[in-house]
Amino acid sequence: MEPKKQHFLLVTYPAQGHINPVLHLARRLAAANGAAVTFSTAVSAHRRMFPSLAAPDDEVQDGPVAHIPFSDGFDEEGFVWGTHDVHHYLSQLRTLGSSSVSSILQRLHGRGSPVDCVVYTFFLPWAADVARANGVPSAQYWIQPATVFAIYYHYFHGYSSLITTACNSEDPMSTTIDLPCLPSLRARDLPSFLTIQPDDPYAVVLSLFKDTLDTLDRKCALSSSKPIVLMNTFAELEEDALSAVEGLTLIPIGPILSSDAGRDLFKLDEKGYMVWLDSKPRGSVVYVSFGSMAAVRKEQTEEILNGMKDSGRPYLWVLRRECRWEGLELQDDDENGLVVEWCSQVEVLSHPSVGCFVTHCGWNSTVESLVCGVPTVGVPQWTDQATNAVLAEKSWGTGVRGEVNGEGVLGREELKRCLDLVMGEGESSVRIKRNVELWRDKATEAMSAGGSSYQNLRKFVDGITKSGQTIF
Ligand code: UDP
Repeated sequence: MEPKKQHFLLVTYPAQGHINPVLHLARRLAAANGAAVTFSTAVSAHRRMFPSLAAPDDEVQDGPVAHIPFSDGFDEEGFVWGTHDVHHYLSQLRTLGSSSVSSILQRLHGRGSPVDCVVYTFFLPWAADVARANGVPSAQYWIQPATVFAIYYHYFHGYSSLITTACNSEDPMSTTIDLPCLPSLRARDLPSFLTIQPDDPYAVVLSLFKDTLDTLDRKCALSSSKPIVLMNTFAELEEDALSAVEGLTLIPIGPILSSDAGRDLFKLDEKGYMVWLDSKPRGSVVYVSFGSMAAVRKEQTEEILNGMKDSGRPYLWVLRRECRWEGLELQDDDENGLVVEWCSQVEVLSHPSVGCFVTHCGWNSTVESLVCGVPTVGVPQWTDQATNAVLAEKSWGTGVRGEVNGEGVLGREELKRCLDLVMGEGESSVRIKRNVELWRDKATEAMSAGGSSYQNLRKFVDGITKSGQTIF
């Protein structure tokens, strides 16, 4: 008899940086593991992912993955940081999201396709409670590096005063912080939410990370086995961090990327950037992108524009509409530079003319640059990005981190200096390129059949089959 096909429900927050790694995992589970997969994000994002649906909230079968959205109460326009009240949103997300995801589980059960495991990302720890209430096991999927997970874990398990004291010291930029199994870090290398002032509107985000870890602690107390956290990283990349947390089983299953077209929340720019890339010499183009969320300041965009022009290097720059400040002189006829609103980033990073990625160091961008073998100039903005930048520079040697001025802006001269380090003729660029090739090969190996992450994902799926009920 054919073994029963497992059914996974993957639930994620409606942001591009959350949707992408979850969608990649969904496709991977379906393709490599033959599982049935249902993907669920908020209605507002679902509508943007499938703009041509006649009934916008319909279930959609997209290749091997079914999509059923949940409501977070912001179905029309979606929640916008800085515009809507964050406390109100988070409470809606929890209450409406819980009942919506619960009905999805019941609907799937009712039609003879019960869910065997709920996989959820951070900001949605309530999904674990919903799963438990419905008698379904669950696992957290961590979509930042294991190092960042371990930092948060330590912060909430006895190290908060050490971290806070170091951050408030006279010289917080150079005071080092030593946490178990992690490299020495400085305050500026920590996730920004740990150093944020309590009156900052984003201070509430730290409580979301606390909720995430509290949920795992509760699971730990309820179960005889350690709760599982799937990680979008690979064993060789973050060996120490992956063993830094004793009470949990951290399973590296990344770097997860799928070659299928993305389901983006932004419309692809139609300026023909791939053809433009075809016209440039191998390894010559600087790709610049600060991801889907960072509100890049006016001064920073001006410095990038001028730095790129002065450098004389061809550049492809993703500048989202909301970062196109008045007075910024973008020339459509500049042969050397192409500015687009959104592109297919993995396709761009895979193009042979791209020689460097000037990045905000979001974890997806970091992982994508590793897999595609593109060195980075890091210009971290917030959240986990400073830690990711230090990992790329110090732990893997695959890039450099730009130094910002007193206003937090990377100046044009510094940008040029960093580009020379990465793309120039000197020793540093040879060393960086060598490391980039090394990590690209290791990343590819981890994900290929028989590789460490491939096997881990298989074991996870087999574990659900054999003893799913223990993984609450
Ligand atoms: N991305 C893209 N096109 C763009 C810019 C970004 O497809 O023009 C994708 C990128 O490949 C990555 C995600 O958007 O998968 C951004 O995630 P990341 O974690 O790097 O940053 P965030 O947007 O969460 O800050």
